[in-house]
Amino acid sequence: MGNQVELLVNLQVVDQQLRERTEAIEALRQGLAEIEREFAGQRTLLETCRAERAEFEARRRDLEGTLNDEESKMKDRRMRLNRIRNEKEASAVRREIEVGKEGNQKIEEDLMVVFEALDVVNARESELQRDYDAIEARRAEQQVKVDSEIATLSAGLDEARRRRDELAADIDAGLRRQYEAIFIRRRGLAVVEVRGGTCQGCHIRVAPQLSNEIQRNQRVIVCPNCHRILFARNETSATA
Ligand SMILES: [Zn+2]
Repeated sequence: MGNQVELLVNLQVVDQQLRERTEAIEALRQGLAEIEREFAGQRTLLETCRAERAEFEARRRDLEGTLNDEESKMKDRRMRLNRIRNEKEASAVRREIEVGKEGNQKIEEDLMVVFEALDVVNARESELQRDYDAIEARRAEQQVKVDSEIATLSAGLDEARRRRDELAADIDAGLRRQYEAIFIRRRGLAVVEVRGGTCQGCHIRVAPQLSNEIQRNQRVIVCPNCHRILFARNETSATA
């Protein structure tokens, strides 16, 4: 049995590497997903700002068009006024001119408000665009870096999986399943050394007779407290 537990110790080293690499890959992917979310959020802000600017521009064109029309109407009224000899008619046109002036003043005021709003929205858009470009650059840079790191980690994974298959083939199937279940439950630590009579998994003292039995390595013994598989390093089982 001693040999089997030793194989488990070696298998655990490989499994821990696999676990670390898999987690590292996952963390890299999550980092990318984070940037992706940030990028999408910034794009939404930018698009909203652009839509706002487009609305103000449409309003500006609208007001400018109306103002042009009104100004040519005013020109007509003044020309008309020059030709009119009837005083009653002339005063009606003068009144129209007064009303028109007031109307145009109002349009000019509205235009000023729109111009000011456009200044603000344009400044904000430039700022949003600058941030958007920065995130996009960072995203591209990160993508290249992550791709290369994942490629390296994945290559290591394939190698570790091959090594795992080799080791696993020599381990009793029942024992391997037991080990695998503990490995998952105990987050990557299923086989632990008993050192100085203490389980190195949970640091609880193991009963002396159990300790002796572990030293003899004749059957698989689990820690009564944390249920990890125990082993002892001695002259016959020392691998290092
Ligand atoms: Zn324990």
